[in-house]
Amino acid sequence: TALLELKEVSKQFGKDTKALSDISFTIEKGEFVSIIGPSGAGKSTLLRCINRMVEPTGGDIIFDGISVPGLGKKALMKTRTQIGMIFQHYNLVNRLTAIENTLHGRLGSKSVLAGMLGLYSEEEKQQAVKLLDTLGLKEQMYKRSDRLSGGQKQRVGIARALIQNPKMLLCDEPIASLDPNSSKVIMKHLRTISTELGITVLVNLHQVETALKYSDRIIGVNSGKIVYDGPPAGMSSEE
Ligand code: ADP
Ligand code: ADP
Repeated sequence: TALLELKEVSKQFGKDTKALSDISFTIEKGEFVSIIGPSGAGKSTLLRCINRMVEPTGGDIIFDGISVPGLGKKALMKTRTQIGMIFQHYNLVNRLTAIENTLHGRLGSKSVLAGMLGLYSEEEKQQAVKLLDTLGLKEQMYKRSDRLSGGQKQRVGIARALIQNPKMLLCDEPIASLDPNSSKVIMKHLRTISTELGITVLVNLHQVETALKYSDRIIGVNSGKIVYDGPPAGMSSEE
C-alpha cells in the first residue's frame, strides 16, 4: 500500500527560481528509494516539502492517507513525529551526550521544557540505550556528541529519528560528509531499517554508485523534474 504520494508538487523560490516542477510519484510502505541528481537539482527541496520544512507552492502530498499541505500547526506536528529526518551535518546539540541527543527526538511529542529538564521516562531511556546499542554506539552513549566521529554522529542522528517510531525516514545527503567506510556503515543501517523494521526510507544521494547498490528504486531529478523513476538495473543500462 502507498505510504506517500506526491501529486504535481512544485516549489518556486522568489520570482525566478523554480526548484520543483510537477513532481509526481508514489512510494510503498517499506520501500528504499534514492533520489539522485546533480547539485541544485532540487533534491533537498523535494525532501523538505514532504514534512513542510519547505512549503510547496503547488500540488498535493498525501502521507499515510493525510494531505500534508492542508494541515494546521498541531496536526502537522503530529505528522512530523512519523517522519524522521536525517541531515548531512547531523544537526546534533554539541554539548549534549549521544543518549541526550537521542532522547531529544522525543521532543516532537512533548514540551521543549520537559526535554530541557530531563523529564524522560525510564522506558524512553531504555529505548534510547537499546537503539544506540543496536547502532554500535554502546561505548559512546555518554560521550558528548562533539567528541564523536562523523560516522558516529550520524548514527546518533539515526537513533534520534528512530526513537519516535516513525513510518518513514527522510535522509538528506546522509553520507556526503563521511569517508567511504563510515558511509558504508550508515547505508547498511538504513538498508536494515527498511528491510527489517519495514520503515520506508527516502534518501537524497549524489553518489550514484551507492544509490544503485542499496536502493529498491531510483528517482533521478534534474532541474526540478523527474528524469528517471525505476529499478537500479534500468538506470545502469541507460547511463
Ligand atoms: P544543506 O543542504 O547543507 O542543508 P541548505 O539547505 O542551506 O544546505 O541549502 C541547500 C541549497 O539551497 C544550496 O544549494 C543553497 O545554495 C541553496 N539555498 C539555500 N538557501 C538559499 C537562499 N536563501 N537563496 C538561494 N539559494 C539558497
Ligand atoms: P539539491 O538538493 O539537489 O542540491 P536544492 O533543492 O538545494 O537542490 O536546490 C534547488 C534549487 O532551489 C537551487 O537552484 C537552489 O539554489 C534553490 N533554493 C533552494 N533553497 C532555496 C531557498 N531557501 N531560497 C531560494 N532558493 C533556494
